[in-house]
Amino acid sequence: GERVLVVGAGMAGVQTAVRLRERGWTGRIVLVGAEPHRPYDRPPLSKAVLTGGAAGSAFDVDFDALDVDLRLGVTVTGLRAADREVDTASGPVPYDRLVLATGAEPVSLPGGGGVPGVHLLRTLDDVHLLRPVLAERRDVVVVGAGWIGAEFATAAREAGCRVTVVEAADRPLAGVLPPEVAAPMRHWYREAGAELLTGRAVTAVRPADRGRVEVELSDGAVLRAGGVVVGIGARPATGWLTGSPVALGEDGAVLADDRLRTSVPDVYAVGDCASFPSARYGRRLSVHHWDNALQGPRTIASVLVAGEAETPPYDPVPYFWSEQFGRFVQYAGHHDDGDEPLWRGDPGDASWSVCWLREGVLNAVLAVGRPRDLTQGRKLIERAATLDPARVADPSVPLKSA
Ligand code: FAD
Repeated sequence: GERVLVVGAGMAGVQTAVRLRERGWTGRIVLVGAEPHRPYDRPPLSKAVLTGGAAGSAFDVDFDALDVDLRLGVTVTGLRAADREVDTASGPVPYDRLVLATGAEPVSLPGGGGVPGVHLLRTLDDVHLLRPVLAERRDVVVVGAGWIGAEFATAAREAGCRVTVVEAADRPLAGVLPPEVAAPMRHWYREAGAELLTGRAVTAVRPADRGRVEVELSDGAVLRAGGVVVGIGARPATGWLTGSPVALGEDGAVLADDRLRTSVPDVYAVGDCASFPSARYGRRLSVHHWDNALQGPRTIASVLVAGEAETPPYDPVPYFWSEQFGRFVQYAGHHDDGDEPLWRGDPGDASWSVCWLREGVLNAVLAVGRPRDLTQGRKLIERAATLDPARVADPSVPLKSA
């Protein structure tokens, strides 16, 4: 039978293998991953696996039972589409159908690579290096007040570390949320005892005495830390595709279509490494969240097993969550600058949410400790439901009745 080769053994790659078998794919499945570890889930790395609350987060998947040829510790270095082969250090691997699922790589601090004590937080190996930082309660500098920075700061405060978070923008989550919505999050840091320095960029990191790291800021201040964690974003891990005929976007994402096909026949892309056109939002989306790595593989399995005509376009309502400073933060949908935010509840309280409407239609929901708003809002977004703004703004009215 035909051979599917999946490159990248993270959530998207593993789910592709699982869904293919579920749909009845009878051909071979080869799953190649660069990391040496049994495939694992990433969100727990900045949560329970980091704090020691969970020993690990390996996927509960029996690859042998699924007849998946799992090859770990193998990095794919190039694609020769004309030969239908990819290259690895241990030789070429052929395919009939190829699924690109190489995920994303964290952005390093310029000049920060190679400085001892400066860490990223993306892989299990990163976590193995970070656990002692927490166990020894070293004081830490976190660069970036995004999702990763906030979750690491949470874990480090829980461990009793002194924590300073440096953020170039004027507020946390500046790339994701508008100022008025992100503003209440500033006090989450204070309340947790983490110092948040905004409007300052890190200009240099260098080794200091006794194994410490010196962090220089744009205002001239110099911080010293026993560990630095850099959480300033991630880019699609597609460098190995440059020079291949697979079209990449400006952000480095593989340009997939609405069936997750790439510009090359029989080559597909899914998860953090790919972008896809959303009819729902009228633009191309690059989604770096777990739910996208769960949903996308269903489309690929359907295209491969049932065919393109039988597969509806991939156009999900993006969803993600974060656990930070004792709060459960969830977001569904996609808002644009022009969308009107409506508050449900007081952002000074433990739980509240924000809904974005455009001409009365719900586009996005941010829920803090209000999981029902999220669940109901997500369904309303899927249906493009029109809501009554006055009822949306009343937190005692269930969103589904607004
Ligand atoms: P990845 O998980 O990045 O997997 C890709 C795999 O491909 C990697 O193992 C990589 O080593 C391998 N690979 C790369 N290049 C090659 C190559 N050339 N050859 C072979 N193998 C290769 N999302 C949420 O929605 N909620 C959360 O709370 C949340 N928390 C997160 C916490 C952390 C610390 C991180 C890092 C991410 C978090 N995310 C969260 C995001 C979520 O984990 C990702 O969206 C998801 O892992 C994407 O899956 P993926 O399979 O596309 O990519």
